[in-house]
Amino acid sequence: MNARVGHGFDIHPLEAGRPLVLGGVEIPSEFGCAGHSDADVVLHAVSDALLGACGLGDLGEWFPDTDPAYKDADSAMLLGRVVEAVARAGASPVNVDITLYLERPRLAPFKPAMRDRVAQILGVPASCVGVKARTLEGFGPIGKGEAAAATAVVLVELAPRGS
Ligand code: MG
Repeated sequence: MNARVGHGFDIHPLEAGRPLVLGGVEIPSEFGCAGHSDADVVLHAVSDALLGACGLGDLGEWFPDTDPAYKDADSAMLLGRVVEAVARAGASPVNVDITLYLERPRLAPFKPAMRDRVAQILGVPASCVGVKARTLEGFGPIGKGEAAAATAVVLVELAPRGS
């Protein structure tokens, strides 16, 4: 297989009264990620991983947070545009492995929906999406419930030359 790997990371502060959107799924919570877009750390990490795998820069270059067009933007739409750019570069996602770092709420009940949603956006089977969540046991800003973060690793397959 002619393949490339990419890695992404994102972190956003948590604020009272914001919706908590993770992996394209709205999760009931008193706190949500603050940011210019809907601040979905999972989809931002996946987007950066895909862009990185294809040498296409990063999410901030594609969708600047100074651009009012992306105010409260749906990160699923942004990731969809990244997937289109990846396809134009002659690549397609194979699998993605995500780790979420969040102290609360407990994410276990929502992981299957996040997995399905990410798989749908990437156009891969759910079995090719890993969603893992962990707390930081009270350490640092994430452990104190002040921020949420995510990392993602993706593999993309390159179409054979001339195909
Ligand atoms: Mg972000």
